[in-house]
Amino acid sequence: MRGTPEPDLAKATEAARDLLIALGLDLADDVLAETPGRMAKGYAELLTPREFDLTTFPNDEGYDEFVIARRIPFRSLCEHHLLPFVGVAHVGYMPGDRILGLSKLARVVELFACRPQVQERLTMQIATWLDGRLKPKGVGVVLEAEHMCMTLRGVQAAGTNTVTSALLGMARTDARTRQEFFSLVAAGL
Ligand SMILES: [Zn+2]
Repeated sequence: MRGTPEPDLAKATEAARDLLIALGLDLADDVLAETPGRMAKGYAELLTPREFDLTTFPNDEGYDEFVIARRIPFRSLCEHHLLPFVGVAHVGYMPGDRILGLSKLARVVELFACRPQVQERLTMQIATWLDGRLKPKGVGVVLEAEHMCMTLRGVQAAGTNTVTSALLGMARTDARTRQEFFSLVAAGL
């Protein structure tokens, strides 16, 4: 499953060269000779999720408590500056009839992180995807991330973390379930 079309590396390299020259860099300098190509590859990698298999399994045991993967590392690019934002995701759901392999929760995060994003939308997309695919009783997603566009430039608020959350189903409507989700997420922090 891919979120983006195949990147054109030759064209991206050429464009990166033009951008760096326009920014006043001297590309005749040997140390920068390979930089446009590396930039193109670097951005392509940040924008291309690895392919993965989305197989779900029947919930034979009838497990209906939260399944939560905590501290899934992720990186994305902010759509305003194309600078990285980097952090961890806590992703949980209360299974209905279908369950998902545990490693797949990390892949779902990656699928939506590998595109220009804002953290709020990324959080919602992960939750909505799980809700649509698994029809679970509830979904909870919490993202914590440092945005380079905020910590390295602009206000330069180094060390600031932005936290977002998305709750669906019982995690949204039932206060006790919501409380349980947040305490399970917080337990490991
Ligand atoms: Zn930004």
